[in-house]
Amino acid sequence: MVMDKEATTEDRDDYTQTLSKYILDTVRRCRNCNYCFSACPLRVSTRGFQTQGPSGILQALYYGVRWNELGGEAGQELCEILYNCTTCNSCVNTCKDKSAGMPLLEVFEKGRNLLVEKMLGPLEEQRSVLASIQRYGNPYQRPASERMPWLAQESVTPLPDEKAEVLLFVGCTASYEPDLFPLGRAMIRIMNYLEVDFGVLAEETCCADPVCRIGDKLLFEALAEENQRRFQATGAKTLVTFSPHCMNAFLKDYEGLEDSFVIRHYTEFLLDRLKARKPEFKVSLNRTVTYHDPCYLSKHNNILEPPREILRMIPGVNLLEMKDSRRQSLCCGAGGGRMYAEVEETTRLANIRVGQAMDVGAELLATACPYCHVMLSNAVKDLGLEDKIKVMDVAEILAWSLRIEP
Ligand code: SF4
Ligand code: SF4
Repeated sequence: MVMDKEATTEDRDDYTQTLSKYILDTVRRCRNCNYCFSACPLRVSTRGFQTQGPSGILQALYYGVRWNELGGEAGQELCEILYNCTTCNSCVNTCKDKSAGMPLLEVFEKGRNLLVEKMLGPLEEQRSVLASIQRYGNPYQRPASERMPWLAQESVTPLPDEKAEVLLFVGCTASYEPDLFPLGRAMIRIMNYLEVDFGVLAEETCCADPVCRIGDKLLFEALAEENQRRFQATGAKTLVTFSPHCMNAFLKDYEGLEDSFVIRHYTEFLLDRLKARKPEFKVSLNRTVTYHDPCYLSKHNNILEPPREILRMIPGVNLLEMKDSRRQSLCCGAGGGRMYAEVEETTRLANIRVGQAMDVGAELLATACPYCHVMLSNAVKDLGLEDKIKVMDVAEILAWSLRIEP
């Protein structure tokens, strides 16, 4: 259900009608049992109105489409409700386990597509994100020449001019967010330490996950096509990502990319190499650590153990689980394009999550996603806990224990 770039007005009308029909046909299957509401993180971070939870969003969208109430004040309210969702996937998993198996996220994303097509969505701040991605190839309104300023300090094969077996896809957040520069450098050093034949694209651009989640299908298609062409030109066979969001987009949103590449999150990839290589750890961490499961690793792709196994390999790691972990992990609040939008929360999800880490006595809060890293680090600062707990990526902890950290 994707239009090409030369789409006519009639094509667009057909497309919006197809979207509307899909929404109406699918939402009718909802049993209104509300099991999904109990799993939604918005229940704990907002005022907890059922109308803003998963089944509430479904119903609001249904009636908006059914009675053509997508514009005006009602439409504005619908837009806000629809873009409140972090796309964490908890409701989808709950409905699958306990009820009708509704594809809630698919419906929400088609709803967002529809609002974007009718120029009624997305939220204001997200419009500038889309414009930035279109203009600069990243959501941060920064020129391509400033991407990965840390890369020059490390030894890396540039692709596609040179060739390598593994294409390491860094992603925008680790490329532009200064707090994550050590993560980028740590990852490169680990790959070199493990003697992986890898390279990084000389001209990397956004994976387009935020574009897809926000609902601009046309821009997504253009970026995906360009990225596929760049990836193919490298001759690599494996595509490894820093971010679970990039991995998920490559696996599920890009058509046919999996036929050409083995696509893996770095935790899975490194775990296999670490097992084969049996590294010599140089220092013992001697810290209590807890691991925050990013939604797009855990709830979307069931990747639960590789990050934990890596942490357990490191000497002196006392790994404890938080109240909500694995597939029940509490979302950090950044997914679904919300990283780039102010949304109404009475308590920020990331603040609640840091509180859960403090409750188990963690000194290090480990994660494996650049978005989670930013959200949780900001929460630690907001809460004034910098001297009590530190957020680190699994790769950073690993590099530190091997004494190869930047
Ligand atoms: S759990 Fe599924 S069927 Fe029940 S209200 Fe939620 S979406 Fe509808
Ligand atoms: S995807 Fe997550 S945030 Fe969105 S409605 Fe479902 S449970 Fe709530």
